[in-house]
Amino acid sequence: MPRFDYVRAHSVAEAVQLLGDPEILSRPLGGGTDVLVFVRHEKPPYDRLVDISRVPEMKIIERHGGEIVVGAAVTYTEAAESPVLQEAAACLVEACLSVGGPAIRNAGTLGGNVANAAACADSLPSLVCLDAVAHLCSRSGERALLVSDLVTGANRTALQRGELITHFTFPVPPAGVRSAFTKLGRRNAQAISRLSMAAAGRLDAQGCVDFVRLSPGAATSQPRRFTEVEAMLLGQEPTDELLAAAGSQTAEVMIGMTGRRWSTEYKEVAIQALAERTLRRALAG
Ligand SMILES: Cc1cc2nc3c(=O)[nH]c(=O)nc-3n(C[C@H](O)[C@H](O)[C@H](O)COP(=O)(O)OP(=O)(O)OC[C@H]3O[C@@H](n4cnc5c(N)ncnc54)[C@H](O)[C@@H]3O)c2cc1C
Repeated sequence: MPRFDYVRAHSVAEAVQLLGDPEILSRPLGGGTDVLVFVRHEKPPYDRLVDISRVPEMKIIERHGGEIVVGAAVTYTEAAESPVLQEAAACLVEACLSVGGPAIRNAGTLGGNVANAAACADSLPSLVCLDAVAHLCSRSGERALLVSDLVTGANRTALQRGELITHFTFPVPPAGVRSAFTKLGRRNAQAISRLSMAAAGRLDAQGCVDFVRLSPGAATSQPRRFTEVEAMLLGQEPTDELLAAAGSQTAEVMIGMTGRRWSTEYKEVAIQALAERTLRRALAG
């Protein structure tokens, strides 16, 4: 394995100083579940890993009034076991439970998943569905970006050198909103997503949709909410026909963004079913 230095940070301030050191090119290390696979095969494009996995400020999951705060060093297991997220963000909890196996879920972090920005990253659709904002910190200061703007493409982000994702925030969904996540892989366990889908929704007293969000994963190079599909559902009764039409429109929006590729024949049908199924779960009275 190529050689590189390792140092553990004990606070965000210390991590940011280490990451911004002009003398030695450094990168954050979360659970290492992506980094260590990479460095076994290639010389890393940095000389030092700064371990942020035990920075206390980055391990919190808290509700502050109308906002949820989730530290970037929170692991999938910690997120899935959080009563705060179980209550406010079922789609994120389900996404975390779908990741790898127990060992990966115990080590892998949400910050690492977003920073690595794989097209198939399982936290992305749920974070985007929740309108999550990533909070970044470096020696130059702090800034905040929607997760959908931070991830600019497959394995590409707007993160700058020396920048650390410290935490994510998202608004507590309105009362009565339910959310769900569905993943389509080649097998049931330890599966990489071929496609995934996060949805949130609520029906009003008349049984019509008065809140809806839809965010596919591994469908487009940049994760985003499919607002076109949300708009067609709002104010409507979610009949089987409407949900099937929403599935078809989800496929149309995807193809409009990606064009037709070798995988479209499969993905067109699969994403229709996934959108329909996930919306049905989120909107189930
Ligand atoms: C067997 C196996 C199964 C897997 N299954 C899945 C799966 O089902 N779904 C899925 O989505 N992923 C899966 N993964 C990929 C991986 O586990 C996740 O992407 C994980 O969330 C990465 O987090 P980490 O903390 O381990 O990141 P690390 O490996 O520590 O880091 C990954 C990248 O993010 C950067 N980084 C880490 N933390 C931060 C931060 N706070 N701020 C800025 N940059 C940061 C690092 O510098 C590095 O570039 C799997 C991996 C393995 C090995």
